[in-house]
Amino acid sequence: MSRAGLLRGRFRPDANAIRPPWALVDAQAFASACDACGRCGPACPEGIIAVDRIGRPQIDFAKGGCSFCGACADRCPTGALSRVEEGSPWSLVATIGAACLSLAGTDCRMCQDHCDPAAIRFRPLGRGRWLPTVEEADCTGCGACVAVCPVGAVSVVSRRNGDA
Ligand code: SF4
Ligand code: SF4
Repeated sequence: MSRAGLLRGRFRPDANAIRPPWALVDAQAFASACDACGRCGPACPEGIIAVDRIGRPQIDFAKGGCSFCGACADRCPTGALSRVEEGSPWSLVATIGAACLSLAGTDCRMCQDHCDPAAIRFRPLGRGRWLPTVEEADCTGCGACVAVCPVGAVSVVSRRNGDA
């Protein structure tokens, strides 16, 4: 790859980055509107806003979950984050993978214990094993379940249908 190509790649916005709530949905539109002023990150009481390689904010659920307080959007001067009352602030949902301890018969409910909307259920599989499921209609994508999982089995992803 040419040097110019390498530089273009380095400064291209990451389409998979999870932006703060109320961010413009289109990745390129967000990257254009956000001027990397850095005001949203320090405003977050949960400390979950990091920056990507081009200085734009992205959520780091390894540090905790979003309380949807709106402080980040309220500090945004460009409209890249723009709070609206209607609808969901983002289109994310939790998913629990095969590393989940309950699937192997260990009695762990850490994610369920930290889920305020009670979106996580465990269905019996027999022999002490349990299947974790996320009720997508109830999940807000807050990510409070991610950091508390002792084996990193929980992640937050875009909803398949793009609806909130
Ligand atoms: S809404 Fe509040 S808790 Fe969520 S990312 Fe923004 S500042 Fe942080
Ligand atoms: S992302 Fe939030 S609402 Fe969804 S399952 Fe995890 S803790 Fe519950």
